[in-house]
Amino acid sequence: MPSCISHAFVGACAGVAVSHDTPPRRLVLFSILAATLPDADVLAFAFRIPYDHLFGHRGILHSLSFAVLAGILIAWIFLRRRSTPWSAWPSSRNFPFLAMYFFLLIATHGVLDAFTNGGEGVAFFAPFTNERFFFDFTPIEVSPINLALFFGGRGEAILANELVWVWMPALGASVLVRILLIANRKRLHPRQVLYREPRPDPGSRMPSPQALMISQKTPNPGGRE
Ligand SMILES: [Zn+2]
Repeated sequence: MPSCISHAFVGACAGVAVSHDTPPRRLVLFSILAATLPDADVLAFAFRIPYDHLFGHRGILHSLSFAVLAGILIAWIFLRRRSTPWSAWPSSRNFPFLAMYFFLLIATHGVLDAFTNGGEGVAFFAPFTNERFFFDFTPIEVSPINLALFFGGRGEAILANELVWVWMPALGASVLVRILLIANRKRLHPRQVLYREPRPDPGSRMPSPQALMISQKTPNPGGRE
């Protein structure tokens, strides 16, 4: 895998890129969680599940099927806030876009892993098949699962490699997405807004339910964000 730090960086870049105005910390945190979630399967080693097993590392948790299910689940958890209209799942207008966003973010994890030059391949199509895949081009230095090895000397070389092959492309892509969103801001229908932080009610730290209802239901009368 690229190091967890790099997967987290990709998540943070995505969260900042797709937010409107000030990036909401919650979306960035959820994006980091989604981008790193597939590596929870390293716990399989603690249960002596082999690397190449369906439930092993880079197995089903790195598959596209898992990305779909986890994307839906994370979007649902993200929107589920009691006492606000966000909790009105599945009627929330943002839900399909957020589910697609989290799906893409989780799927990107497996794609990055398939660009690494070590370990087993990625079981993209699990549970239907446990066949493991790498891309033909594998420029990303594989990161050791054992943290002692990572911090014991190889970490610097790995991070330098990931700076070129993960961090710079992630930054470039997030800047591009941000520019495209800003350029298309006037043309975007409110349903296409991926995430907008509810505007706080003046005089109170918490946004009022009325303000949230208005921000969700009024389709931008002036045509501006
Ligand atoms: Zn991974």
